[in-house]
Amino acid sequence: REAIHSVFLYHAIRAGMDMGIVNAGALPIYEQIEPTLRERVEDAVLARRPDATDRLLQVAESAKGHARAARTDLAWREGSVAERLQHALVHGNTDFIEADTEAALAELGRPILVIEGPLMDGMNVVGDLFGAGKMFLPQVVKSARVMKRSVAWLTPHLEAEKAASGVSEAKGCIVMATVKGDVHDIGKNIVGVVLQCNNYEVVDLGVMVPTQRILEAARANHADLIGLSGLITPSLEEMRHVALEMERQEMTTPLLIGGATTSRVHTALKIEPCYSAPVVHVLDASRAVGVAGSLLSAEQHDAAVAKIRKTYAQIRARRADAGRARRLRSLEEARAHRPQLAPAPRAPLHPGVHEVEQPIEALIGTIDWTPFFHTWELRGTWPRILDDARLGEQARGLLQDAEAMLERIVAEDWLRARGVVGLFPANAVGDDIEIYGDPLRQAPIETLHTLRQQAAHLEHNLALADFVAPKGEGDDWIGAFAVTTGLGIDDHLALLEAEHDDYSAILLKALADRLAEAFAEVLHARVRSELWGYAPGESLSLPELIKERYEGIRPAPGYPAQPDHSEKRTLWRLLQIEERTGIQLTEACAMWPAASVSGLYLSHPGSRYFGVAPLGRDQIEDYAARKEVPIAEVERWLSPSLAYDP
Ligand code: SAH
Repeated sequence: REAIHSVFLYHAIRAGMDMGIVNAGALPIYEQIEPTLRERVEDAVLARRPDATDRLLQVAESAKGHARAARTDLAWREGSVAERLQHALVHGNTDFIEADTEAALAELGRPILVIEGPLMDGMNVVGDLFGAGKMFLPQVVKSARVMKRSVAWLTPHLEAEKAASGVSEAKGCIVMATVKGDVHDIGKNIVGVVLQCNNYEVVDLGVMVPTQRILEAARANHADLIGLSGLITPSLEEMRHVALEMERQEMTTPLLIGGATTSRVHTALKIEPCYSAPVVHVLDASRAVGVAGSLLSAEQHDAAVAKIRKTYAQIRARRADAGRARRLRSLEEARAHRPQLAPAPRAPLHPGVHEVEQPIEALIGTIDWTPFFHTWELRGTWPRILDDARLGEQARGLLQDAEAMLERIVAEDWLRARGVVGLFPANAVGDDIEIYGDPLRQAPIETLHTLRQQAAHLEHNLALADFVAPKGEGDDWIGAFAVTTGLGIDDHLALLEAEHDDYSAILLKALADRLAEAFAEVLHARVRSELWGYAPGESLSLPELIKERYEGIRPAPGYPAQPDHSEKRTLWRLLQIEERTGIQLTEACAMWPAASVSGLYLSHPGSRYFGVAPLGRDQIEDYAARKEVPIAEVERWLSPSLAYDP
């Protein structure tokens, strides 16, 4: 198809066409198209001969992309059934998996022998290649899809034979869950798949799982390990709670900690001390197998645990020293160090609340692909990663799969995007931002509470309120927004999961996340140029947008400039976000659907992102009083940002 496009454009431009909309990234150079293919395409495009279509179809196979060319090479079909299964697993090829599984069953007689024989052998090859860095995460997840399809085919036979005991042949059972209040699970799914590929039985309890359900499932399944995952900071406290509860119930199952918000330091400081059995932070999916293996191996267990305990004790000791060295200003001093920014209020062209509909298709061109590759543990910067010597081939293959799925998402209407944006009169009052419902700014309809940096080494101690004109110094404005591209995703995830297609399910979630971020970027641009309208002539390329080379910021609650996720509740009331978009907040203020983004808009030309941590006790007390919530509650929301131990 790309060749046809290219040939068409070549001739059309010569014939006078002077404008067209093309995907420049998928346009081969006319001269470089393989001559036979080009001739046959030209025959068809120019209608040069009656059999042009048939002749084009004949060469179409050979013109398919790299990955597919490899697939159509069927030499591997000549091997033994075990070799064929191994090939299918290593190459993530499901084309013949049912037939080969059937052949293996005929040969070996019992389904369990197929699983423990050729399938496990094949997965061990996959595990070894992955461990040696010769295979990458997307391939491993594709391998898992092959494995699952094969096991699914065998399952009726397994049951018929009542040989369900085969499951206990796994290396161990791991119960995994995203903790209560949190909805993110891409990383957890990937870890689960990788562990399954390495012959662990994985019981995935999904997202928003309360402590007792995790512990009950662990007991019911005789779990050898429990894995907790979380994306947002309140989950850190929730994980601590799980650990405390396991201690109280005198459990001894080792606990694995993972997810974007977690860290080795947090695990060492806050979780490990709560639980007597081993607690291990798992940095990413590629480490999970090694950690699980050492914890469950009779020979390695003691040494591995001793090493981890020692490392974590060292982290705690170092941290205690660092804590003493860290100097903070008092809140009062910090306020005296606020930057002196001249107010720059600019009235919006279209104040008030606007609901936004957005075709998914129009977001694709604004996707920042770098975080997408990170999700799959291909660490590099897009678009350079596509030409990377080590990762390029993988990255291109993954991007191809992503683009193919995006086409289906659009053509078959898989996802719906919805957003809301509001622009309101606002002024800073101390470290708070008052939002008004009337032009006279009499009484605030809502108040946003912001936090101020207190670090003594900073020249200026910033708070987001500094970017809004103080009351009496000009009629300033603020914006707020929420967008989602996750509406409708569940039906399609359910279909993919029913087909045992983890790869596509994870791909879909990752793409929905990307589309939500793209929506946030597109909407912000529209706010700057049109709705607020303070940058009417702005015209930035995608790389410039990704680098946020525009005036103004969109700080998100829960991020470093305002780490308190509970401030989202103010946005939800202000814009009636749930009613208008369907995005809900969990009790921990995670957004559901997960593919959602929300934040504030600040227009001040001097506004920028920063981090407020570490925060002193004096500020926490002041902030709690301003918010009218108990100090202990504020400390829970902000626990990772505190300079002290509550
Ligand atoms: N191109 C990226 C954009 C999202 S990340 C992507 O597609 O994923 C950048 C966003 O994170 C910012 O726009 C802002 O909303 C938020 N952010 C980053 N740093 C922040 C900080 N220090 N405080 C508050 N929000 C921040």
